Amino acid sequence: MTTVAAALAAARAKLPAGEARLLLGHVLQRPVSWLMAHDDEVLGEAELLGFASLAARRAGGEPVAYLVGRREFFGREFVVSPAVLIPRPETELLVELALASAACGAMVSEGGAGADRNAVKILDLGTGSGCIAVTLALEIPSARVTAADISAAALAVARSNAERLGASLRLCESDWFAALAGECFDLIVANPPYIAAADPHLAAGDLRHEPSSALSSGAEGLDAMRRIIAAAPAHLAPGGQLWLEHGYDQAAAVRQLLATAGLTGIEQHIDLAGIVRVSGGRRY
Ligand code: GLN
Repeated sequence: MTTVAAALAAARAKLPAGEARLLLGHVLQRPVSWLMAHDDEVLGEAELLGFASLAARRAGGEPVAYLVGRREFFGREFVVSPAVLIPRPETELLVELALASAACGAMVSEGGAGADRNAVKILDLGTGSGCIAVTLALEIPSARVTAADISAAALAVARSNAERLGASLRLCESDWFAALAGECFDLIVANPPYIAAADPHLAAGDLRHEPSSALSSGAEGLDAMRRIIAAAPAHLAPGGQLWLEHGYDQAAAVRQLLATAGLTGIEQHIDLAGIVRVSGGRRY
């Protein structure tokens, strides 16, 4: 007879306690708080086998988020699969800055006619799981949010997150701006791939299991950034704002790209780890 407590204790040889709880909770379809309160519950054969299999996969390097198919972002639970990047806490900074920009934009347009005409138009490029686009759509219910991705598999994940969380999004299969010719937005956000192709981190840890197209982008990790920034002014409404997440060592290069593209009011912000992580500029 193996109890919850005994199964978790046995897993400690291979896994940190928090990860073991998440995996066992997933197998039992119970929240981690339930495990704590029921640690003398006896597990069935199938449950033990399911837990052993997930624990072995985790010990072999698969990310917990893919094993349980979920990751929390900005206080909501998102479905994830190996077709999408796992949402990161640092990306919440990008969302916070976008929310602040949208709030300013809404104040400016409040005096105008009809609510819909004044709805903030937002574009999330390379949406992946949709965590940024869905969060913005839910936090600003009046906004019209477009979520674009080159990957149909990623868009399917974004669609399921939008449906589960009740967000209204327009999904668009697009290589950055390619399918958005002639369209302008008040706010464009992106967490593009930005890791240098030769960065050893790509071959280590959880990153090995994530889509490389969502992580790496050319020798300096700046290829996607260059394309997005160069094309952004043509897709920003006058006064429109662009925000981009980038790598720990890319702040100077990104500032230069934003300035070269003619964007003004360039701002750079640090994440919780003190790293300049998000940069942005406005179309004049
Ligand atoms: N922040 C991620 C990492 O370093 C990279 C995400 C990205 O390339 N957009 O793991």
